[in-house]
Amino acid sequence: MQHLMVSIVLMLTLGQGDSSPETPKAKLVEPPVSITVESTLPSARGMIRQFAFDGDPATLFVSDEPIRESDHFTMSFDRPVALKSVAVVTGRPDSSGALGSGTLEVSEDGKAFCEVAKFASGEAHAKGNPHEICAIRVKSEKSLEIPLIIREFTIESEPSLVPFKYPVEIQTDVSDAPEMKEWLEKVARLCERNYRMINEELKTEGYTPAREINMTLKKDYRGVAAAGGTRITGSAKFFKEHPDDVGAMIHETTHVVQHYRSRNNPGWLVEGVADYVRFFKFEPGKIGPINTARAHYNSSYRVTAAFLAYLTEKYDKEIVLKLNKLMREGNYKEDAFKEYTGKTVQELDEEWRSVLSEGAKEADD
Ligand SMILES: [Zn+2]
Repeated sequence: MQHLMVSIVLMLTLGQGDSSPETPKAKLVEPPVSITVESTLPSARGMIRQFAFDGDPATLFVSDEPIRESDHFTMSFDRPVALKSVAVVTGRPDSSGALGSGTLEVSEDGKAFCEVAKFASGEAHAKGNPHEICAIRVKSEKSLEIPLIIREFTIESEPSLVPFKYPVEIQTDVSDAPEMKEWLEKVARLCERNYRMINEELKTEGYTPAREINMTLKKDYRGVAAAGGTRITGSAKFFKEHPDDVGAMIHETTHVVQHYRSRNNPGWLVEGVADYVRFFKFEPGKIGPINTARAHYNSSYRVTAAFLAYLTEKYDKEIVLKLNKLMREGNYKEDAFKEYTGKTVQELDEEWRSVLSEGAKEADD
């Protein structure tokens, strides 16, 4: 490994944003913007891309291969932002592996990029920008003998960008169904983008979720998809026929985050929590009709998800968070429902079912 001892700081200055003028009365605070981070270079084990924007300069993205000409590392934003400043630091904390040549580029449309600074090595700082941008990338100009090492992007923008509080990378495997490569890559990035949301819904103190997940499509897989540990396996046939059913992979990613080990956890509740995250947080409104004659709290999947949503609404905004904590720590017992709501799960079931059938009657009228 070639060690570059010189650390060069790039100062990159961009003009002031032309975002709409601020009116003191009606200043809209736009929600932060999510990011997808991609690279032409594969990540070295444990050195994932999202480490480049996790607010922690101690964690690094390191590529598994040396940099080739035109390789890039790109952060794409869900919506355009007015850039106030950007700083990029490459190389390890001891300055070794800093990028010796390359460019820092921005894009207004995510397709055409324009250079805003040349990289020598080390840091980059910037201020202002004449246009809203939706992507920033580090691009190599020539092949180098070193891997690409990015310590941290620091970006100030309006609206702000969401840093990777729970960094994760999903490796895909479509060797069984190469024609599904583009679809699975898209879904992997989608699940990466929603990893923060899933972890916020299911957070417990001291728990660090998996940082590397494998997502595979198998042509002979029966069923839709399943998760075990940090591996997600899906049916190539099913997703070829149902390409819009990306929520199924959010459900499986939720199982990876749940990380339950206890045999005391009832299956209906494990699946209910995963479908609660899917249907009430990821794709609200898509749950479809519930059969009121047959629905019970323990009917599992989306029916239990609807039951949990009812309890969240009527009794305790944090009930899913609390049930998740019990299950993750191996302390689940049915009495928990009574503790959190004052009623047994059977009493809650009766009540929920009568509310459901009233709702169904009204819909019929
Ligand atoms: Zn499941």
